Amino acid sequence: MLDRAKAGRFAYPAINVTSSSTLVAALRGFADAGSDGIVQVSTGGGEYASGAAKDMALGATALAEYAHVVATAYPVQIALHTDHCQADKLDKFVMPLVEETERRRAAGRPNLFNSHMFDGSALPLEKNLDIAVSLLERFRRSELILEIEAGVVGGEEDGVTAAASAKLYTTPADTLDVAHRLNAISGARYLLAATFGNIHGVYKPGQVNLRPSILKDCQDAVVATFGEAARFYLVFHGGSGSELRDIHEALDYGVVKMNVDTDMQYAFTRAVADHCFRNYDGVLKVDGEVGIKKAYDPRSYLALGESAMAERVKQVVGMLRGTGTTKATRVPVAHG
Ligand SMILES: [Zn+2]
Repeated sequence: MLDRAKAGRFAYPAINVTSSSTLVAALRGFADAGSDGIVQVSTGGGEYASGAAKDMALGATALAEYAHVVATAYPVQIALHTDHCQADKLDKFVMPLVEETERRRAAGRPNLFNSHMFDGSALPLEKNLDIAVSLLERFRRSELILEIEAGVVGGEEDGVTAAASAKLYTTPADTLDVAHRLNAISGARYLLAATFGNIHGVYKPGQVNLRPSILKDCQDAVVATFGEAARFYLVFHGGSGSELRDIHEALDYGVVKMNVDTDMQYAFTRAVADHCFRNYDGVLKVDGEVGIKKAYDPRSYLALGESAMAERVKQVVGMLRGTGTTKATRVPVAHG
Protein backbone atom coordinates (compact mmCIF):
# COMPACT_ATOMS: atom_id res chain seq x y z
CA MET A 1 0.00 0.00 0.00
CA LEU A 2 2.72 2.46 0.96
CA ASP A 3 4.79 1.86 -2.16
CA ARG A 4 1.78 2.40 -4.40
CA ALA A 5 0.95 5.65 -2.62
CA LYS A 6 4.52 6.89 -2.89
CA ALA A 7 4.72 6.02 -6.60
CA GLY A 8 1.26 7.44 -7.32
CA ARG A 9 1.65 10.59 -5.20
CA PHE A 10 -1.47 9.93 -3.20
CA ALA A 11 -1.97 9.26 0.51
CA TYR A 12 -4.21 7.19 2.72
CA PRO A 13 -6.34 8.86 5.33
CA ALA A 14 -5.68 7.28 8.73
CA ILE A 15 -8.99 7.44 10.54
CA ASN A 16 -9.13 7.28 14.34
CA VAL A 17 -11.71 4.81 15.59
CA THR A 18 -12.95 4.31 19.14
CA SER A 19 -15.98 2.05 18.74
CA SER A 20 -17.64 -0.42 16.40
CA SER A 21 -19.71 2.45 14.96
CA THR A 22 -16.76 4.64 14.02
CA LEU A 23 -14.86 1.61 12.75
CA VAL A 24 -17.58 0.48 10.35
CA ALA A 25 -18.04 4.10 9.24
CA ALA A 26 -14.36 4.22 8.25
CA LEU A 27 -14.55 0.88 6.42
CA ARG A 28 -17.63 1.98 4.53
CA GLY A 29 -16.05 5.30 3.57
CA PHE A 30 -12.98 3.59 2.15
CA ALA A 31 -15.08 1.03 0.27
CA ASP A 32 -17.34 3.75 -1.16
CA ALA A 33 -14.24 5.62 -2.35
CA GLY A 34 -12.70 2.49 -3.89
CA SER A 35 -9.61 3.08 -1.79
CA ASP A 36 -7.57 1.08 0.66
CA GLY A 37 -7.15 2.82 3.97
CA ILE A 38 -5.79 2.93 7.47
CA VAL A 39 -7.74 2.83 10.70
CA GLN A 40 -5.94 3.69 13.88
CA VAL A 41 -6.48 3.44 17.61
CA SER A 42 -5.05 5.93 20.10
CA THR A 43 -4.18 5.22 23.73
CA GLY A 44 -7.33 7.05 24.81
CA GLY A 45 -9.42 5.30 22.15
CA GLY A 46 -8.13 1.92 23.30
CA GLU A 47 -8.86 2.73 26.92
CA TYR A 48 -12.38 3.86 26.04
CA ALA A 49 -13.06 0.74 23.98
CA SER A 50 -12.01 -1.52 26.86
CA GLY A 51 -14.93 -0.38 29.01
CA ALA A 52 -14.53 -0.67 32.76
CA ALA A 53 -11.16 -2.40 32.36
CA LYS A 54 -9.61 0.95 31.38
CA ASP A 55 -6.90 -1.06 29.62
CA MET A 56 -5.67 0.66 26.43
CA ALA A 57 -4.08 -2.47 24.96
CA LEU A 58 -7.15 -4.58 25.70
CA GLY A 59 -9.48 -2.10 23.98
CA ALA A 60 -7.15 -1.75 21.00
CA THR A 61 -7.05 -5.55 20.69
CA ALA A 62 -10.84 -5.71 20.75
CA LEU A 63 -11.16 -3.07 18.01
CA ALA A 64 -8.53 -4.83 15.88
CA GLU A 65 -10.28 -8.20 16.31
CA TYR A 66 -13.57 -6.59 15.31
CA ALA A 67 -11.88 -5.02 12.26
CA HIS A 68 -10.35 -8.35 11.20
CA VAL A 69 -13.85 -9.86 11.16
CA VAL A 70 -16.02 -7.11 9.68
CA ALA A 71 -13.46 -5.85 7.13
CA THR A 72 -13.88 -9.12 5.22
CA ALA A 73 -17.21 -7.73 4.03
CA TYR A 74 -15.56 -4.75 2.27
CA PRO A 75 -13.66 -5.09 -1.04
CA VAL A 76 -10.65 -2.98 0.00
CA GLN A 77 -7.47 -3.47 2.03
CA ILE A 78 -7.48 -2.02 5.53
CA ALA A 79 -4.27 -1.50 7.51
CA LEU A 80 -4.50 -1.41 11.29
CA HIS A 81 -2.31 1.10 13.11
CA THR A 82 -1.89 2.51 16.60
CA ASP A 83 -1.56 6.27 17.05
CA HIS A 84 0.68 8.39 19.32
CA CYS A 85 2.29 6.39 22.11
CA GLN A 86 4.71 8.31 24.30
CA ALA A 87 7.72 6.52 25.82
CA ASP A 88 6.08 6.13 29.23
CA LYS A 89 3.10 4.32 27.71
CA LEU A 90 4.98 1.82 25.51
CA ASP A 91 4.80 -0.93 28.14
CA LYS A 92 1.07 -0.48 28.60
CA PHE A 93 0.07 -0.07 24.95
CA VAL A 94 2.41 -0.90 22.09
CA MET A 95 4.44 -3.71 23.64
CA PRO A 96 1.48 -5.94 24.63
CA LEU A 97 0.14 -5.49 21.07
CA VAL A 98 3.52 -6.41 19.56
CA GLU A 99 3.69 -9.47 21.80
CA GLU A 100 0.23 -10.50 20.62
CA THR A 101 1.35 -10.18 16.98
CA GLU A 102 4.42 -12.30 17.77
CA ARG A 103 2.23 -15.00 19.35
CA ARG A 104 -0.09 -14.94 16.34
CA ARG A 105 2.72 -15.24 13.84
CA ALA A 106 4.21 -18.15 15.77
CA ALA A 107 0.83 -19.86 15.38
CA GLY A 108 0.69 -19.08 11.65
CA ARG A 109 -1.87 -16.30 11.99
CA PRO A 110 -1.69 -12.74 10.61
CA ASN A 111 -0.51 -9.73 12.62
CA LEU A 112 -2.93 -8.13 15.05
CA PHE A 113 -1.84 -4.64 13.88
CA ASN A 114 0.29 -3.73 10.86
CA SER A 115 2.05 -0.73 12.35
CA HIS A 116 2.55 1.23 15.54
CA MET A 117 3.58 4.78 16.26
CA PHE A 118 6.16 5.61 18.92
CA ASP A 119 5.97 9.31 19.73
CA GLY A 120 9.28 10.35 21.23
CA SER A 121 8.89 13.95 20.12
CA ALA A 122 8.99 15.22 23.71
CA LEU A 123 12.47 13.68 24.15
CA PRO A 124 15.81 14.93 22.85
CA LEU A 125 16.18 13.54 19.31
CA GLU A 126 19.04 11.21 20.25
CA LYS A 127 17.01 9.57 23.01
CA ASN A 128 13.96 9.47 20.71
CA LEU A 129 16.03 7.59 18.10
CA ASP A 130 17.64 5.23 20.66
CA ILE A 131 14.16 3.96 21.52
CA ALA A 132 13.08 3.95 17.85
CA VAL A 133 16.08 1.81 16.88
CA SER A 134 15.36 -0.81 19.53
CA LEU A 135 11.69 -0.94 18.54
CA LEU A 136 12.43 -1.18 14.82
CA GLU A 137 14.89 -4.03 15.33
CA ARG A 138 12.12 -5.98 17.01
CA PHE A 139 9.35 -4.84 14.65
CA ARG A 140 11.13 -5.94 11.48
CA ARG A 141 11.04 -9.57 12.58
CA SER A 142 7.22 -9.42 12.44
CA GLU A 143 6.91 -7.19 9.35
CA LEU A 144 5.58 -4.43 11.62
CA ILE A 145 6.06 -0.87 10.42
CA LEU A 146 7.15 1.78 12.90
CA GLU A 147 5.98 5.37 12.75
CA ILE A 148 8.12 7.93 14.56
CA GLU A 149 7.89 11.67 15.03
CA ALA A 150 10.66 14.26 14.83
CA GLY A 151 9.49 17.74 15.77
CA VAL A 152 6.27 18.31 17.67
CA VAL A 153 2.68 18.41 16.41
CA GLY A 154 0.98 21.33 18.12
CA GLY A 155 -2.44 21.45 19.74
CA GLU A 156 -4.12 18.86 21.90
CA GLU A 157 -5.01 15.24 21.21
CA ASP A 158 -6.27 12.66 23.67
CA GLY A 159 -5.60 15.10 26.51
CA VAL A 160 -1.91 15.45 25.61
CA THR A 161 -1.11 19.09 24.82
CA ALA A 162 2.09 20.22 23.13
CA ALA A 163 4.13 22.76 25.10
CA ALA A 164 3.92 26.34 23.83
CA SER A 165 7.69 26.30 23.33
CA ALA A 166 7.54 23.06 21.32
CA LYS A 167 9.51 22.75 18.12
CA LEU A 168 6.75 22.80 15.51
CA TYR A 169 9.06 22.63 12.48
CA THR A 170 11.36 19.67 11.82
CA THR A 171 14.77 20.57 10.37
CA PRO A 172 16.67 18.79 7.58
CA ALA A 173 19.45 18.11 10.11
CA ASP A 174 16.95 16.25 12.33
CA THR A 175 15.81 14.09 9.45
CA LEU A 176 19.40 13.26 8.45
CA ASP A 177 19.87 11.90 11.99
CA VAL A 178 16.68 9.86 11.56
CA ALA A 179 17.85 8.34 8.26
CA HIS A 180 21.36 7.75 9.60
CA ARG A 181 20.07 5.73 12.55
CA LEU A 182 17.03 3.95 11.12
CA ASN A 183 18.13 3.19 7.55
CA ALA A 184 20.99 1.14 9.01
CA ILE A 185 18.45 -1.48 10.10
CA SER A 186 18.06 -3.64 7.01
CA GLY A 187 14.72 -5.10 6.09
CA ALA A 188 12.86 -2.66 8.33
CA ARG A 189 10.26 -0.10 7.31
CA TYR A 190 9.28 3.08 9.02
CA LEU A 191 7.16 6.16 8.51
CA LEU A 192 8.26 9.61 9.58
CA ALA A 193 5.95 12.27 10.97
CA ALA A 194 8.01 15.36 10.22
CA THR A 195 6.29 18.48 11.47
CA PHE A 196 5.72 21.59 9.40
CA GLY A 197 3.52 23.68 11.66
CA ASN A 198 0.72 21.13 11.79
CA ILE A 199 -1.62 21.11 14.74
CA HIS A 200 -4.07 18.58 16.18
CA GLY A 201 -7.63 19.84 16.16
CA VAL A 202 -9.35 22.40 13.95
CA TYR A 203 -8.84 26.14 14.32
CA LYS A 204 -10.22 29.26 12.71
CA PRO A 205 -8.50 30.38 9.50
CA GLY A 206 -5.21 32.20 10.02
CA GLN A 207 -4.25 30.42 13.25
CA VAL A 208 -2.28 27.63 11.63
CA ASN A 209 0.84 28.41 9.61
CA LEU A 210 1.64 25.32 7.56
CA ARG A 211 4.93 25.28 5.69
CA PRO A 212 4.92 22.10 3.56
CA SER A 213 8.15 23.25 1.85
CA ILE A 214 9.90 22.05 5.02
CA LEU A 215 9.06 18.51 3.89
CA LYS A 216 10.75 19.14 0.56
CA ASP A 217 13.85 20.52 2.30
CA CYS A 218 14.00 17.37 4.45
CA GLN A 219 13.56 15.03 1.45
CA ASP A 220 16.17 16.91 -0.60
CA ALA A 221 18.67 16.69 2.25
CA VAL A 222 18.20 12.97 2.82
CA VAL A 223 18.30 12.11 -0.90
CA ALA A 224 21.46 14.22 -1.39
CA THR A 225 23.16 12.47 1.53
CA PHE A 226 21.91 8.89 1.35
CA GLY A 227 20.50 8.49 -2.17
CA GLU A 228 17.02 8.16 -3.67
CA ALA A 229 16.24 4.94 -1.79
CA ALA A 230 16.35 6.89 1.47
CA ARG A 231 13.43 9.15 0.49
CA PHE A 232 11.04 9.18 3.44
CA TYR A 233 7.50 7.88 3.67
CA LEU A 234 5.98 10.88 5.43
CA VAL A 235 2.97 11.24 7.70
CA PHE A 236 0.84 14.38 7.99
CA HIS A 237 -0.58 14.70 11.50
CA GLY A 238 -3.43 17.07 12.28
CA GLY A 239 -4.89 16.84 8.77
CA SER A 240 -8.35 17.99 9.88
CA GLY A 241 -9.28 21.44 8.65
CA SER A 242 -6.24 21.78 6.37
CA GLU A 243 -6.35 23.70 3.09
CA LEU A 244 -6.42 21.57 -0.05
CA ARG A 245 -3.43 23.36 -1.55
CA ASP A 246 -1.28 22.63 1.53
CA ILE A 247 -2.40 19.00 1.46
CA HIS A 248 -1.53 18.60 -2.22
CA GLU A 249 1.84 20.23 -1.74
CA ALA A 250 2.55 17.81 1.12
CA LEU A 251 1.56 14.85 -1.09
CA ASP A 252 3.99 16.04 -3.75
CA TYR A 253 6.76 15.91 -1.13
CA GLY A 254 6.10 12.32 -0.13
CA VAL A 255 3.27 12.26 2.40
CA VAL A 256 1.62 8.81 2.17
CA LYS A 257 -0.54 8.90 5.32
CA MET A 258 -2.64 11.73 6.70
CA ASN A 259 -4.22 11.46 10.12
CA VAL A 260 -7.78 12.74 10.30
CA ASP A 261 -9.59 12.62 13.62
CA THR A 262 -11.30 15.90 14.51
CA ASP A 263 -13.19 16.24 11.20
CA MET A 264 -14.54 12.72 11.65
CA GLN A 265 -15.64 13.37 15.23
CA TYR A 266 -17.56 16.41 14.04
CA ALA A 267 -19.14 14.67 11.02
CA PHE A 268 -20.43 11.88 13.25
CA THR A 269 -21.75 14.13 16.01
CA ARG A 270 -23.29 16.62 13.58
CA ALA A 271 -25.59 13.91 12.25
CA VAL A 272 -26.52 12.68 15.73
CA ALA A 273 -27.28 16.22 16.89
CA ASP A 274 -29.43 16.80 13.83
CA HIS A 275 -31.48 13.71 14.64
CA CYS A 276 -31.93 14.69 18.28
CA PHE A 277 -32.95 18.28 17.56
CA ARG A 278 -35.39 17.26 14.82
CA ASN A 279 -36.92 14.52 16.92
CA TYR A 280 -36.86 16.26 20.27
CA ASP A 281 -40.16 14.79 21.46
CA GLY A 282 -39.26 11.37 20.05
CA VAL A 283 -35.86 10.91 21.69
CA LEU A 284 -37.16 12.43 24.95
CA LYS A 285 -40.25 11.71 26.99
CA VAL A 286 -41.78 15.19 27.03
CA ASP A 287 -44.77 16.32 29.10
CA GLY A 288 -45.74 12.88 30.34
CA GLU A 289 -45.50 11.34 26.84
CA VAL A 290 -43.50 8.18 26.12
CA GLY A 291 -41.21 9.30 23.31
CA ILE A 292 -40.81 7.26 20.13
CA LYS A 293 -38.94 4.00 20.44
CA LYS A 294 -37.69 4.17 16.86
CA ALA A 295 -36.20 7.62 17.50
CA TYR A 296 -34.36 6.75 20.70
CA ASP A 297 -33.12 3.31 19.68
CA PRO A 298 -29.35 4.06 19.59
CA ARG A 299 -29.11 2.32 16.22
CA SER A 300 -31.28 4.98 14.60
CA TYR A 301 -28.92 7.88 15.27
CA LEU A 302 -25.67 5.88 15.31
CA ALA A 303 -26.48 4.73 11.76
CA LEU A 304 -26.89 8.39 10.77
CA GLY A 305 -23.56 9.23 12.42
CA GLU A 306 -21.91 6.34 10.57
CA SER A 307 -23.31 7.45 7.21
CA ALA A 308 -22.15 11.02 7.72
CA MET A 309 -18.69 9.93 8.83
CA ALA A 310 -18.41 7.47 5.92
CA GLU A 311 -19.23 10.30 3.52
CA ARG A 312 -16.53 12.46 5.12
CA VAL A 313 -13.99 9.62 4.81
CA LYS A 314 -14.87 9.32 1.13
CA GLN A 315 -14.34 13.07 0.66
CA VAL A 316 -10.95 12.96 2.37
CA VAL A 317 -9.85 10.05 0.17
CA GLY A 318 -10.66 12.30 -2.80
CA MET A 319 -8.68 15.20 -1.31
CA LEU A 320 -5.72 12.83 -0.97
CA ARG A 321 -6.07 11.72 -4.62
CA GLY A 322 -6.87 8.16 -3.55
CA THR A 323 -10.29 7.59 -5.14
CA GLY A 324 -10.41 4.31 -7.06
CA THR A 325 -6.80 3.39 -6.25
CA THR A 326 -7.45 0.06 -4.52
CA LYS A 327 -5.88 -2.99 -6.12
CA ALA A 328 -7.69 -5.37 -3.81
CA THR A 329 -9.12 -8.23 -5.78
CA ARG A 330 -10.81 -9.86 -2.86
CA VAL A 331 -14.51 -10.41 -3.29
CA PRO A 332 -16.29 -9.32 -0.15
CA VAL A 333 -17.43 -12.23 1.96
CA ALA A 334 -21.21 -12.46 2.14
CA HIS A 335 -22.13 -12.76 5.80
CA GLY A 336 -25.45 -14.09 7.03
ZN1 LIG B 1 -0.97 13.06 15.63
